[in-house]
Amino acid sequence: MAKAPARRSTKRLKPDEIEAIFATFAAANPEPKGELVASNAFTLLVAVVLSAQATDAGVNKATPALFKLADTPQKMVKLGVEKITDLIKTIGLFRGKAKNVFALSQILIERFDGEVPADREALESLPGVGRKTANVVLNIAFGQPTIAVDTHLFRVSNRTGLAPGKNPLEVELGLLKIVPQHYMLHAHHWLILHGRYICKARKPECYRCPISEWCRFEPKTPPPKNWDGAPV
Ligand code: SF4
Repeated sequence: MAKAPARRSTKRLKPDEIEAIFATFAAANPEPKGELVASNAFTLLVAVVLSAQATDAGVNKATPALFKLADTPQKMVKLGVEKITDLIKTIGLFRGKAKNVFALSQILIERFDGEVPADREALESLPGVGRKTANVVLNIAFGQPTIAVDTHLFRVSNRTGLAPGKNPLEVELGLLKIVPQHYMLHAHHWLILHGRYICKARKPECYRCPISEWCRFEPKTPPPKNWDGAPV
């Protein structure tokens, strides 16, 4: 987890404000998608493992060549650690990640019939897979209403007052309590995209933020001089 630049809001949002925030996200982007490219649960799992401390864009540059050769655990094991290492060498921490991808593929074959398990405990037993990765896989591959807290989501939850917390688990549990059930499946995508493109780490773009009227962060960032007032 990157260092949190966020101030924690002390004032929590009211239920009608929380509803309004997610209704705004839903109206703008009814079916939000993750940005990692994957064709099945296995390639998604591998992509998420590779994305630790790396950008989705960087992972997406390397994975087409990898997944062309290996889109199943069996093919990944056949590829071998050396070849996997070579194919992902543009991604940070690639040596350790290549070993994890190889080892988790072996375990999937040996213990899970070559399938990615739709179960948190089983997922977290795989090398390189922590709570956040398990949450992403459960949500995207299996449609479970989990919340995967990355650095963007952590920052947005704290700044807005949605779910202030000192660590990712606190924020995750806070969001699970306050996000209305009908928004839960997509909540983490909306919050991640919001943090990535508007509520940015160094300078949140409050002047073009669609949820600024409910957000507790102060002082809000004013528009730059050359801003033309175009809506998001
Ligand atoms: S108003 Fe500013 S701080 Fe609040 S969510 Fe929007 S961009 Fe982030």
